[in-house]
Amino acid sequence: MTKAILVINAGSSSLKFSVFRDSGAGDPVAAINGQISGIGTAPVFEAKDIDRKPLEGKAWQPGEASDRTALLAYLLDWIEARLDGATLVAAGHRVVHGGIRHAAPVRITPAVLDELEGLVPLAPLHQPHNLAAIRALAEAHPELPQVACFDTAFHRGQPWQAGMFAIPRDLTDEGVRRYGFHGLSYEYIARRLPEIAPELADARVVVAHLGSGASMCALHAGRSMDSTMGFTALDGLPMGTRCGAIDPGVLIYLMREKGMDAGAIEKLLYNKSGLLGVSGVSNDMRALLESADPHAQEAVELFGFRIAKETGALASSMGGIDALVFTAGIGERSAPVRALVAEKLAWLGVSIDAAANTANAAKISSGDSRIPVYVIPTDEERMIALHTRNALAA
Ligand code: ADP
Repeated sequence: MTKAILVINAGSSSLKFSVFRDSGAGDPVAAINGQISGIGTAPVFEAKDIDRKPLEGKAWQPGEASDRTALLAYLLDWIEARLDGATLVAAGHRVVHGGIRHAAPVRITPAVLDELEGLVPLAPLHQPHNLAAIRALAEAHPELPQVACFDTAFHRGQPWQAGMFAIPRDLTDEGVRRYGFHGLSYEYIARRLPEIAPELADARVVVAHLGSGASMCALHAGRSMDSTMGFTALDGLPMGTRCGAIDPGVLIYLMREKGMDAGAIEKLLYNKSGLLGVSGVSNDMRALLESADPHAQEAVELFGFRIAKETGALASSMGGIDALVFTAGIGERSAPVRALVAEKLAWLGVSIDAAANTANAAKISSGDSRIPVYVIPTDEERMIALHTRNALAA
């Protein structure tokens, strides 16, 4: 029997989904991708097949029943009519926070859901929307098993030093610690890299996940040893609109001298900073690379500087570095950013092949580079589909 697995990545006003077909042999294979945007205002549904051919679109009129439960009921009906003989067996969700307890995906029960609700204060911008989708789907289809796959889980095996802030212990015990995110992406890379380069299976690898959210991870023998994101997905690298690592003294200054409260600081650091804040032009790397504005160029330069700097820090966390991997939107497609980082890592013996880099080849290092440099497309959805299959089988 061919099975189908629904993968959901739910945000504040949009819900991305994929349908995977799973024959049991090899990895589940993506068949349909789509999204519902405008949730809460004027929802729009779009879906494409695996060749990006549009399958269907629908827009809801204001006033039509279009809360999350109604939208998920619509989505499930739509999917079930297109299963082509397969049986929908489960839904796997990307859930940003699994707290300190969850080092692996978990099958959703009412008790698990309540526990995950307790983590909302740790990820107030994402966790509530992830959980709202789970609740809505449970209401629309109570019989469908659901699995939560956490962005934090992969980092749970890190050495304790990587997870700890130097603050009073009672705060650490309460959960104020470094969790790390983008774990599903790093887990996918850890699984994929030895297929591409078997000799790196036990190696010390720095992975740069450079999307609109950006972070880096130190992988040793496929396990996370350290990461640039910490308590929240705000730490580490500058991102599209997020500031990345910042002296906490800046926050005290903003409160004391500018009279800003938590909400205003949150908006500043999450939505108005990063590439957008520095450039004043855009949060989109493509726009910055095309811009002649010196501030746009500075934003790109700062991004490269910080990636190179974190590479050194993460290498130190592993006692060395044997390979560097780029992934996600910018990492997979931006040759100029990769070239900039490589240039700043020349001290480490990193050297890239300009033609391979421009072609977004799988291996972009030159023959005389001291360490190999790879470009590996990430696939968080496939990781969720795999986890969901495994959680059902457990
Ligand atoms: P998300 O974190 O939203 O999943 P993605 O991984 O899709 O993000 O990455 C989005 C980022 O990738 C954007 O900053 C976009 O500018 C950048 N990007 C996509 N294609 C290119 C490209 N060809 N060159 C440079 N940047 C690119």
